Amino acid sequence: MKTRKRFLGDFHVHSNLSDGRLPIPEVIDLFGKLGFGVIAITDHIAESHTYIGKAAAYLNQVLTRETFPKYMELLKEEGERAWKQYGMLVIPGFELSKNSISNHRSAHILGLGITEYVEADGDPVDLAAAIHNQGALAVAAHPVNTRKIEKQTYHLWDRREELANTFDAWEVASGPYLFDEVLETSLPKIASSDLHKPSQMTSYKTVLECERHPEAILEAVRKQQISFEFYRAPAPKPAVERPIARPRVASFSLAG
Ligand SMILES: [Zn+2]
Ligand SMILES: [Zn+2]
Repeated sequence: MKTRKRFLGDFHVHSNLSDGRLPIPEVIDLFGKLGFGVIAITDHIAESHTYIGKAAAYLNQVLTRETFPKYMELLKEEGERAWKQYGMLVIPGFELSKNSISNHRSAHILGLGITEYVEADGDPVDLAAAIHNQGALAVAAHPVNTRKIEKQTYHLWDRREELANTFDAWEVASGPYLFDEVLETSLPKIASSDLHKPSQMTSYKTVLECERHPEAILEAVRKQQISFEFYRAPAPKPAVERPIARPRVASFSLAG
């Protein structure tokens, strides 16, 4: 019988193929060295018809239909390396990002375990359906106030009763912040870092105790056989101090 050990998962992580700081291989090494069991890389896809979405594409801050195949290829290659090197699974994902001037019209939706590109245009119900058609999970990302100085995305939360069965999970924590409003509901939950840079590693994470296999992990989230934990990243190792090599001539002259 296989023993099932608990492991940590982070299901919301960005790379420099959208607005994250690190290339995918470095993201994998960051989590792999810390002993994570699974991560999902979820770079942004913006709406194609909005000004904000077009500007993001122009600035290479989002995945596009053109860059998506390369992204998937890299996730596959690096996922294989992560498994061999660290025993860590990498789940391909994206974050459909509907950004409006109004916080109440903005919504971010994660797809976990995706295979195909999905346009971020359209109603959240249709976007979730497109994600589910791929056998992937649809997650309502940071649905309430994130306490960050940036755009807020309240659209899904405003419609939470109508959308209660649309999403497989709602983020109950993002980064170091736990969302009491979500915690108090009976909505299915997940906790992740929304990591864009290494300093954001200290955050809530999801704890799993299933088989280390992508399907088993997605199923554990669907069935809510998960828990949450505040994870404190180990302090970075202090830089090794090298003794300063002094020119020998100087020491002789001082002694003399
Ligand atoms: Zn987001
Ligand atoms: Zn994000």
